[in-house]
Amino acid sequence: MILQELSDAIGVSGHEDAVRKIIAEAVRDHVDELRSDTIGNLFAVRLRPLPRGKKARGAKRAFKVMIAAHMDEVGLMITGFDASGGLRFQPVGGIDDRVLPGKVLLVGPDKIPGVIGAKPVHLLKGDEWKQVVKIDSMVIDIGASSKEEAEKLVKLGQVAAFTTHYNKVGRTATGKAFDDRAGCAVLVELLRGGPAGAGARFPFDLHAVFTVQEEVGLRGARVAASAVEPDCAFVLEGTICDDLPKDKDTSPTTELGKGPAISLMDRSAFADRRLVDHLVATAEKLGIPYQFKQPGVGGTDAGAITRSKAGVPTVSVAVPCRYIHSPVARLSLDDFDNTVRLMRESLKRLTPDVLKRA
Ligand SMILES: [Zn+2]
Repeated sequence: MILQELSDAIGVSGHEDAVRKIIAEAVRDHVDELRSDTIGNLFAVRLRPLPRGKKARGAKRAFKVMIAAHMDEVGLMITGFDASGGLRFQPVGGIDDRVLPGKVLLVGPDKIPGVIGAKPVHLLKGDEWKQVVKIDSMVIDIGASSKEEAEKLVKLGQVAAFTTHYNKVGRTATGKAFDDRAGCAVLVELLRGGPAGAGARFPFDLHAVFTVQEEVGLRGARVAASAVEPDCAFVLEGTICDDLPKDKDTSPTTELGKGPAISLMDRSAFADRRLVDHLVATAEKLGIPYQFKQPGVGGTDAGAITRSKAGVPTVSVAVPCRYIHSPVARLSLDDFDNTVRLMRESLKRLTPDVLKRA
């Protein structure tokens, strides 16, 4: 299953090669063009069908839709070595210091296994019980007994990633990097046209872009959108789901099992209202469950795409994922399937008229 393969792959921001390779292989036979750019974005283009009797696509500019999903995941970068052989590190992307102690990692291209040391509970004194251990006081232990030994195995600037394996539990799955391998997997499914691999064509030129470096500032999407110059864009994500515990009175950002989450506004962008309405109308017509992501929370590649060139109407659609940016997340496979379905059906019905202004 592509979601499993992508979740298990390692691709910390700036180091997305393994993920790009898996995606390229998965979509190669279903697209008209496949290329990567200077910073590592992967472009998979599926052209609109030719009108009957036409031998070539005319010079008239096609309606162009970009769909982006980011390949990178949060991780750690090795920033130094201490005398006892421990690796110093800094976060790549947003990671809560509190989820790190005791976690298992793979370090560098050789995937050296390491663990972030934590002081045994027996040794905690006084106020230590109440304090958060800060990232700069932690080290990754790779079993080296000296700085020299550690430097032989791992180089400065290499990255470390969580190692959690994908696991299906009923109609949910746990795994790492669902932000945003869930979005990548949805986009792969859209290009492949379902399990039969029929590869449906849409009434426009579809530019699927698997972007790099989203977690460190939407960098890949910025250059990708400038290159594609789409008429509108969709961003596919794995987003925050904080629906546990159920008894709290505040509205959760999204809820597991309630369907794809459509963004209205977050810290990076306003969703284009016409695209939101189009998604909602499609979901209502076909009885596909959907929810709105609580406005004001998080940010996506939409922030970069919507402000590219002369501006691009953009909306984000996401699979809700509990515990993102930690070593393990959980999603609902029904939400995943419904995200694929909502996107496919909405795209089939997407024409330039959707974006007409009065
Ligand atoms: Zn993301």
